[in-house]
Amino acid sequence: MFEQKSPKKVVLATRNQGKVREFNKLLAPLGWEAVSVTVYPDAPEVVEDGETFEANAVKKATTIANHLGLPAIGDDSGLEVDALMGAPGVYSARYAGEQASDEENWKKLLGELVDVPLSERTARFRCVLAYAEPNGQVIVARGSCEGLIAHQPAGDGGFGYDPVFFLPQRSCTMAQLEPDEKNRISHRAEAMQQLLQKLREAGL
Ligand code: IMP
Repeated sequence: MFEQKSPKKVVLATRNQGKVREFNKLLAPLGWEAVSVTVYPDAPEVVEDGETFEANAVKKATTIANHLGLPAIGDDSGLEVDALMGAPGVYSARYAGEQASDEENWKKLLGELVDVPLSERTARFRCVLAYAEPNGQVIVARGSCEGLIAHQPAGDGGFGYDPVFFLPQRSCTMAQLEPDEKNRISHRAEAMQQLLQKLREAGL
């Protein structure tokens, strides 16, 4: 008889709806039911105070997995700009201030790079994902996506720094890509593929 496998439930330790949409598109075809932590009103707010993407991702995943007794995925991501010695890095979300909007953040970035020629505006998005089981098992995966910081914004897709992140091979910014295309090439997609591979290897 045909046996229907029930989807495996994993909690995404993020309140960012843009990311939840991207994660769901990547996870659904693989038989995972991904639910946002917002579904659990008593889940703790995790403070991102680590000095690395990995420290923040692991903290988010383990805090939520331990609290809810369910597997959880924590992520941390951000933009590293070579001309700024890797800034904004783990401070990407609050580069222009604690409550800064995406537009305020990328405007500050363009201001910092005003005299920097295109050839020196190399940058990458990085993503670290951590999967945590309530029993303490943790699996970490990484992805990156190389590009250049444009002189002006273009496009209205995506979120964060996408309007100023130029992809030379595609001659457009990340914000000008179709969502499916971004999902194929992004730092998050790469980290997710690596995570899925590691989960399979671990027999999860
Ligand atoms: P966090 O991972 O939620 O701590 O925030 C990372 C920050 O990095 C976001 O608020 C964005 O500013 C930026 N970021 C991360 N991933 C992307 C992306 O795919 N596109 C644009 N900006 C991103």
